[in-house]
Order: sequence, then structure tokens, then C-alpha cells
Amino acid sequence: MSRRKLSPVEKARREIFSVSCLDIMDYQNWMAVALEQAKQAAEEGEVPVGAVIVRNGELIAAERNRRQGLQRPTAHAEILAIESACEKLGTWNLSDCALYVTLEPCCMCAGAILQARIPLVVYGADDPKAGAVKSLFTLLNDSRLNHRCEVVSGILDTACGKVLTDFFQKRRDEKRE
Ligand SMILES: [Zn+2]
Repeated sequence: MSRRKLSPVEKARREIFSVSCLDIMDYQNWMAVALEQAKQAAEEGEVPVGAVIVRNGELIAAERNRRQGLQRPTAHAEILAIESACEKLGTWNLSDCALYVTLEPCCMCAGAILQARIPLVVYGADDPKAGAVKSLFTLLNDSRLNHRCEVVSGILDTACGKVLTDFFQKRRDEKRE
């Protein structure tokens, strides 16, 4: 039986998606790195969301929400991580990378994920108010679009959600004082 030769992109995808019992552990390890970014964002007074981009088991970019600090509506963790990864790798095409983010991506970030051709997104907590992957829209798996993306949700979701609820609780408490 002859086997078709895999393109580099297919090979990378196969590596990313190769199913093993270590996958979940791997997801959790990278999510823990994203979670550290989220915690740092909270310390900076930003809504705590963190994102990392990984290629072949190597950390390419780690970013956090910096909308207040940069005074930019587009400065979500995912956008900054994508921009940083593109700069580092010298390409707009991240089709051999995986993105980990603590919160379900919004419409803007889902759009950027599709534009960057990222094949795997792993996220922590659902975002019922703005999530564009599962909650409000399913932009990463819309058959009308030319790119689709594998999605794994719920990784460290309790911890990812807790940094957000703690942040907003603290902000409410501070307002009341
Ligand atoms: Zn976003």
C-alpha cells in the first residue's frame, strides 16, 4: 500500500493532533502557563486573560490582556500572542502552531485565529457573554468559512474562571469602600 507523502503542514498537524494519554496533561501544562499570564494581568489591573502559542512543544509567545495599559480595544491576549508569534517566526501563517487561552475567544480573536490559520485552539473557561467559539457563535467551526479549527475546551476551566470572578469581585469590593 503506497502512502502519500505528507506536506510539512500536514506533518505538523499530525504531531499536534496525535492522540495519546499525555495530550490532556500537555494541554494542562500549557494552560498553566497561560494562567500565569492571566494572573499577571490581574495584578496590572487588567481583566485577567492569558494566552500562549506553542509549536512542536516549544513556547513561541506568551501574552495577556493589555487593553487598559495600551488603551487599545484590540489588545486582547490572543491578538497580542498571535502578533508576537508572527513577529518571532517571520510569517503570518501559524498553521503549525496551537493557541492556548484561559477564556473562550471573542469574535475579534476568533477572526484572527482563522486568519492566522491556527489549527488547534485549547481554552479554559466558557464566556457566555462574548464567546464566539461555542457560547454565542461557533466561528471556528463554520462550514461557510474556508478555515476550520480543532477546539478543546474546559482545560483548567475552574482555575481560569476563578481568576476572572476574583478580579471582578475585588473590583466591586473596592468600589463599595
Ligand atoms: Zn478577544
